[in-house]
Order: sequence, then C-alpha cells, then structure tokens
Amino acid sequence: MKEERFDVVVVGAGPAGSVTARKAAEQGLDVLLIERDQVIGVPVRCGEGVSNRIKQFVTIDKRWICVEVKGANIYSPDSTRVVMAGEKMDEVGYVLDRPLFDRFLASNAARAGAEIRIKTEAYGIIKENGYVKGVNIRCASENENKRVYADVVVGADGVESLVGRLADINTRLRPSDMCVCAEFLMCDIEINKEYSEFFLGSEVAPKGYAWIFPKGDDYANVGVGISGDVSGEGHHAIDYLKVFAKNKFPTGKIIAEMCGAVPVCGPISESVADGIVLVGDAAWQVNPLTGGGILYAMRAAEIAGGVVVKAVQENDLSKKRLSEYDRKWRSEFGERLEIGLKAKEFFFNLSDKDLNALAHSLVGVEIHELSTDALLLELVKRNPEMLEELVKHFIS
Ligand SMILES: Cc1cc2nc3c(=O)[nH]c(=O)nc-3n(C[C@H](O)[C@H](O)[C@H](O)COP(=O)(O)OP(=O)(O)OC[C@H]3O[C@@H](n4cnc5c(N)ncnc54)[C@H](O)[C@@H]3O)c2cc1C
Repeated sequence: MKEERFDVVVVGAGPAGSVTARKAAEQGLDVLLIERDQVIGVPVRCGEGVSNRIKQFVTIDKRWICVEVKGANIYSPDSTRVVMAGEKMDEVGYVLDRPLFDRFLASNAARAGAEIRIKTEAYGIIKENGYVKGVNIRCASENENKRVYADVVVGADGVESLVGRLADINTRLRPSDMCVCAEFLMCDIEINKEYSEFFLGSEVAPKGYAWIFPKGDDYANVGVGISGDVSGEGHHAIDYLKVFAKNKFPTGKIIAEMCGAVPVCGPISESVADGIVLVGDAAWQVNPLTGGGILYAMRAAEIAGGVVVKAVQENDLSKKRLSEYDRKWRSEFGERLEIGLKAKEFFFNLSDKDLNALAHSLVGVEIHELSTDALLLELVKRNPEMLEELVKHFIS
C-alpha cells in the first residue's frame, strides 16, 4: 500500500474539520484534510440556523447567507406564542446556505495551505506503541487505498466518530443520547420571512421540536427532531415531519429531503488520546437543548488548531499535551452544554399541559436576545418552583 506523511491529517470537511485545518495550516504545518463525500457541504444535514455569534468566527459574506433573522417564535402545544427579540433589533441570527458556507470554510483552509482531498474516506487508524500515528484512507477517484502517517489525527468526522472509536475514545451514543431528525426543503409556501419558528408538543415532536427556518422568498427548511429513544416503526422523525408539513403547508412542494442525527448528551468524557483530538459533533460539542452545533464546532476547532500546532512544534503528541485542548474548550463552554443537558432533560419530559403553562407565563414578556440562556432566565424568574433544578444556574 502507498504511504504518505503529513504533520496533521484532518478527517471530515465540515465546519470543525475545515477550521482546524485552516488554523494548523496558517501556522505552517503540512495539513491534509479529507472528505468522503464528492462535494463538500453536500448532502446538507442541518437546519442551517445560527445566532449572530457567528461573527466572532468569520466575516459575514452575503453569498452564504440565505436570510438575516430578526428573532424566533416558539409555539407551545396550545399554540401560545413566545417571542424572542424585538422588531427594532437588527439581525440576531442567520439561516445559512450550508453547502456554500462549508465550501467557504474549506476554501479558507486550502488558501492557508492545507491539501484537500474529496471522495477520500478514512476507514482505519494506524497505531504504534499506543499512539495514533495516522489513518488508512480509501481514495475513490484513484480507486486506491493508502496509509497516511501524521503527528496528529483530527477526528472531525461527525456524530459517532469512526476515528474516535477506532482510537478507543468512547464516542458511542445510546438512542436517548441522540436527537434524530428529518427535514424537507420546501417551496411555494407562505412563511414568516424574518423569524425562525419552533413548535413544541407530544403530537408534533415528542421529546424534541419541529422547526421552520426561512430560506428566502417562499423557501424554508421544515424539520422535526425527536429523541432517539422515542423513535420507532411508524413514528420516526420523518413520520412526524410528513404530518407537520402537511398541516402547515398543505400545498407546499418538497424540493429536498434528508435525515440525520445530532449528539444531545452533553460533553464527551474525553476528547483526546495519544496522537488524536476529536472536534465538533465527533466530540459531542452540541447544545443538547437546541441541537445547535455549528458555532461550538467552529470555536472548538480554533482551540484545537492552536493546541495541535504547539504540540507538533514541541514534538509532544501525548494525550497529556493535547489535553490542553480538552481543558480549554470545557472551560469555555462545557458548562453551557451541561446546562443545556439539564434543560433538555427537564423540558422534554414535561407534559403538554406544563409546556402550555410555561408559555402562558411568558405572554407579553419581551426577550431581547436569541439565546436559550435568555429564554431560560425569563422562565426561571417566573416559575422558580417548577424550574427549581435550573434556578441555581441562572439566579445568583
Ligand atoms: C437535521 C439537523 C439539523 C441541524 N440544525 C442545526 C442548526 O440549525 N444549527 C446548528 O448550529 N446546528 C444544527 N445541526 C447540527 C450541525 O449540523 C452540526 O453540529 C455541525 O454540522 C457539526 O459540524 P462538524 O464539522 O463537527 O460535523 P459535520 O458537519 O457532520 O461534518 C463531518 C464531515 O465528516 C465527513 N466524514 C465522516 N466520516 C468520514 C470518514 N470516515 N472519512 C472522511 N470524511 C468523513 C462527513 O461526510 C462530513 O462532511 C443540525 C443537525 C442535524 C442532523
């Protein structure tokens, strides 16, 4: 089998992989970024919604923005509406064009000097003396397998990371640890063009929610995510989605359909081992309450890129050295993921009656921020007994 050598090999060209690859390449490392699909960013497995915190990572480029969102409407089972963000505010979030966005991030990695190979899948890892030393890859275009040696392997290969598992990092998820989703891209529908909309209730999406994210004109992402442990024959996410879409948009047209899963179980116990780091969905860096992971993936990738560069320069690829990455991302947003998990466990086990009661407590309340923290804060203020478990995190 042919052999190659790089300083860093990054598996997966989603946001986590492309940002890590760019950071490492910018500092002069020899980086290979591989993606098994033939088009980066396709297929889309995402609602494509992000808050305006995205500006911390990239300069907004209208080419990959479909819509600037002014706020969100959340509907309880009895259709009580909770509004986040006021009409006078500027954009508080965006609906992205993920194929263009992911390609933009990958192009930045390429411009920084990373080598990118599409249609190239990691199917095994190389281990020597307990250290991960590279990956075995299958290149579909050349119909050839190769051994790629690297000082560090970055597992940015998404939910249930294969490279993480092969490196003996526990990335396995139980059904209840996952939100399983189905989404249609629909057109010819009447939508709120400036607000993302969320719908709660056991009939719409048990232990989850349905969403409508505007994509411009008469287009929207219409999706349903439910907890993996309530999914089954005849009541998969796609079954709920078909009913939801039909009720909301009886004459709407479906342009695309996709299914996917998100880890919603809070922080992974380990994101590094000797010679390897996991980033993004591979490291469960997703808000368990919302299922949003794009911005966490990008921030973790920035941290990972920086630590990987230092570890390679110091020629210390040990788990101990790479743990700097683990410590940093946990101290920045580990607690947010823990709170998200507590909030998810609380809200997704409420009856429809209780969800309605919480929504009623927010009627007339203006929440001027598109963030789960702002929403939870208002809820605990008005329902301290019901939300006893969450109170300590929000009221000091
Ligand atoms: C239905 C759905 C809706 C969502 N909606 C939102 C949302 O609105 N907002 C939000 O912030 N988040 C959302 N998410 C979560 C978000 O999509 C992820 O958190 C984000 O994509 C994580 O980025 P990543 O780079 O870690 O992983 P990914 O984007 O999943 O990228 C992983 C890449 O690795 C590649 N890969 C996998 N295995 C291999 C291999 N062996 N070899 C080579 N390549 C490999 C894959 O092809 C993929 O391109 C949603 C997820 C789903 C499923």
